[in-house]
Amino acid sequence: MPPIEYPDEFHAPRSLHDVGMRGHTVEVRCLVCDRCRRFDPYALWWLFEQRGWNDKLTQVAKRFKCLSCSIVRRRVARSLVTIVDDPPNDDTLPRPDERTWRASVKRRRT
Ligand SMILES: [Zn+2]
Repeated sequence: MPPIEYPDEFHAPRSLHDVGMRGHTVEVRCLVCDRCRRFDPYALWWLFEQRGWNDKLTQVAKRFKCLSCSIVRRRVARSLVTIVDDPPNDDTLPRPDERTWRASVKRRRT
């Protein structure tokens, strides 16, 4: 499926947390070999939260290095992050517990 398009900046998610609130999927695609992983937004947000990383969508790609490119081609390939409606294909990351997620939602609303 193509990336989700939003009518304007105001409606577009700005962070992994926003993507979780909307229930979409985060797709990370290698710009060199086209390998793609789709993440559950809650699990990916939780990873960023625990490591103290900025979860703004413009910053997320910086945290990804394509493993296949770094081993086979010995180069660090850049990634592209998009928001899609396809189901996640990566289940390596744990989700936060319900209470942690709810507390984060509350915090961002105030
Ligand atoms: Zn790659």
